[in-house]
Amino acid sequence: MHTLRNNRTLHQTEVVDIIDVTPRMRRITIVGESLPLLGIGLPGQWMKVFVPTPGDEPPAGRAYTIRQFDHAAGQIAFDVVLHGDDGPGSRWAGRARRGDRLDVGGPRAGHMIDRSAASYILAGDATALPAIAAILEALPDGCQAAAFLEVADKAEERYLTPRPDQTITWLHSGTFVPGTTGLIERAVKAASLETEDCQVWIAGESSMMRSIRAHLLLDRRIIHPAIESAGYWKLGTADHRERD
Ligand SMILES: Cc1cc2nc3c(=O)[nH]c(=O)nc-3n(C[C@H](O)[C@H](O)[C@H](O)COP(=O)(O)OP(=O)(O)OC[C@H]3O[C@@H](n4cnc5c(N)ncnc54)[C@H](O)[C@@H]3O)c2cc1C
Repeated sequence: MHTLRNNRTLHQTEVVDIIDVTPRMRRITIVGESLPLLGIGLPGQWMKVFVPTPGDEPPAGRAYTIRQFDHAAGQIAFDVVLHGDDGPGSRWAGRARRGDRLDVGGPRAGHMIDRSAASYILAGDATALPAIAAILEALPDGCQAAAFLEVADKAEERYLTPRPDQTITWLHSGTFVPGTTGLIERAVKAASLETEDCQVWIAGESSMMRSIRAHLLLDRRIIHPAIESAGYWKLGTADHRERD
């Protein structure tokens, strides 16, 4: 079933399952009559989820990556970082209950894997884990991948199990917010990387993403078309929007 907001098609859905994948990552699964009609197949595709706001304000749209899509059942799972009550998305995820109703728009974008790439470099904070996990799962067998991932602590690492040809460098932000410590930037700069014919995907906190992208372009001389990057959020800014 559809409604329209700003000329965009919205899908009416209901929450059917909620599990904590890690202490700070909550998987929320929704079902909707119109979801089986959606064209979902690329890693990193995302939807605008309209979450409740306090008071009489209309629902707020927030971007979340499609982590799982069950076409037959018409179900989509989002993995949401629980960063507290300072934003409606995180607040909603912290309080979600089975039976909650919400509208979603999309799907949008998604990452085209270059199957001829010799190697892959991925970098991101906790918000990028759903997309990076999907990209790692979709990479051709034998394609070397190096991923630099910042999460709060060791308990968050169980989110993702890499294949033997995939190397994960985990960074722990501790009491700071993943993506804001400079740890990923330093790890990428210090790493020995295969940059010949590589493909790069970076997402997470905006300043972190920009710093890594600049390093790969200017210092490592990776060509611009080989790098896809997105600022998924920005420290101190609500509903930050930016792509590449
Ligand atoms: C294409 C795309 C895909 C995304 N996929 C995912 C996903 O799968 N899972 C996911 O969790 N996020 C994902 N994000 C990021 C998510 O949309 C943002 O983190 C968003 O700001 C969360 O909304 P909010 O209402 O919780 O906070 P907002 O209202 O946007 O912000 C309120 C405050 O919280 C801060 N803030 C926002 N996000 C974080 C954070 N992660 N940690 C600490 N502080 C934060 C802001 O700086 C601001 O000060 C994605 C973003 C994009 C653009």
